[in-house]
Amino acid sequence: MPEGDHIFRTARTLNRALAGHEVTRFESVLPSLTRIHEDAPITGRLVESVTAAGKHVLMRFSGGLVLRTHMRMSGSWHIYRPGEAWQRPRREMRVLVGTTAFDAVGFSVPVAEFLTQADMARQDDLRLMGPDLLGETFDEDEAIRRFRRQQPLEMADAILNQRVVAGAGNIYKSEVLFLCGVNPFAPVREVSDETLRAIVRTARTHLQANVTDPRGGITTYRGYRRGPGRDASQRRYVYGRADKPCRTCGTPIRVKAQGPHARLTYWCPVCQA
Ligand SMILES: [Zn+2]
Repeated sequence: MPEGDHIFRTARTLNRALAGHEVTRFESVLPSLTRIHEDAPITGRLVESVTAAGKHVLMRFSGGLVLRTHMRMSGSWHIYRPGEAWQRPRREMRVLVGTTAFDAVGFSVPVAEFLTQADMARQDDLRLMGPDLLGETFDEDEAIRRFRRQQPLEMADAILNQRVVAGAGNIYKSEVLFLCGVNPFAPVREVSDETLRAIVRTARTHLQANVTDPRGGITTYRGYRRGPGRDASQRRYVYGRADKPCRTCGTPIRVKAQGPHARLTYWCPVCQA
């Protein structure tokens, strides 16, 4: 599942390409979208903005309509010049929003719906979402209160819960808990407020750093040597490094499926005892 920083970059790219421009072309294979388009055409509207809210991409059109998409595991938005070859097969196209200069193509997007402002206020994933780790402002006290409402949850699962804090995914989960020395299987109730604050601050710092990092990808460990290797785990402390030595103590990093969706968790059994 893409992490919040990836979604943030996607929204920023879409916004640069589309905002302020008129929609000249709209296509979708999703009946729920084409039905709206037939009743109240998307073509002719202006794209007002494209923003990220947690892991949702919100594309706002004039006339008060918002296209909400969520990428889950496999979805992605691409930007193409009209006529340019697509990097994914046409059969994976779910939605296309085109202007005279760009086509924004959503591939394999599993969640896509048009919302009015009133719908937005009722949409539970948005309404109940916790403070956004990539938000310009971040209510840390509110984040701590939301962790406290999930006392029995294991820390790794609490961080992934978008109703606690929004934006962290599976890689940041492992990395941030390592950086804060917290055991991923510890229930929230065993973790102090001070440590919870350190966790959300660390998550924010790394998510924000990766949003502005021109290389893309996710880097938490910056001590790696540049070389021919393309192994992304070189740029991380624990994620993807099972059985490799901990960068702090040398103990082999462990990995285990955790939580209701069996997401992989990487950790050092000594540094995060
Ligand atoms: Zn260690």
